[in-house]
Amino acid sequence: MSAHPSPAKQPAEPDAVAPPADCPICPRLAAFRHEWREREPGWHNAPVRSFLPREGAGSVRLLVVGLAPGVRGANRTGRPFTGDYAGDLLYSTLKHFGFAAGEFEARPDDSLHLVGAAITNAVRCVPPENKPTGQEINDCRRFLSPTIESLPSLRAIVTLGRIAHDSTLRALGAKLKDAPFSHGGTHEVGGFLVASSYHCSRYNTNTGRLTEAMFHDVFANVAEHLKVQP
Ligand code: SF4
Repeated sequence: MSAHPSPAKQPAEPDAVAPPADCPICPRLAAFRHEWREREPGWHNAPVRSFLPREGAGSVRLLVVGLAPGVRGANRTGRPFTGDYAGDLLYSTLKHFGFAAGEFEARPDDSLHLVGAAITNAVRCVPPENKPTGQEINDCRRFLSPTIESLPSLRAIVTLGRIAHDSTLRALGAKLKDAPFSHGGTHEVGGFLVASSYHCSRYNTNTGRLTEAMFHDVFANVAEHLKVQP
């Protein structure tokens, strides 16, 4: 018997919301995907679809918006925050607050699943050196905006890092000056609680810019907020 029973399959992100596997809109990122496809043909090497709970988009009350796939993380495995360090803190925190269950083993076929939460990225393709250009961030918002609109029960959004925060605000039609990024900051935007955090990258945690306690505080706030939301 397998030590890892097959997890229930997560519902696929609808095509109307997800980029096509060969999305050509950002030429630099499309070329980078092709380069990695040549180097690592067994990897995902395509835009990464949002991670949804088994119960489907209708059950999502919390959306986490990251920056972009990591080259050896989601770009390799095809699931957001899976395969590199950034997922360790994110998924342990989501589990701590009841937004995920199962075991996170950094593989898309592990038993980890989301509960009332979804995860997406502001930019769906891996950028060189984790740095998308302003144009690429703006271009990929055509997928972030409908992702938000496709979640009818959504009440709160956690943005990881300034780029994800600013792109989310723009996707919601808000002005950046009305809800500026700050770690631990919360704003009501377009009927949602938007809570911002430093990104849970290895760099930020290694340098002490983001501690587990600081990250937990962000999600504790959101969990409290969701308790009193219909
Ligand atoms: S980053 Fe977004 S818009 Fe750009 S090529 Fe990838 S999926 Fe398309």
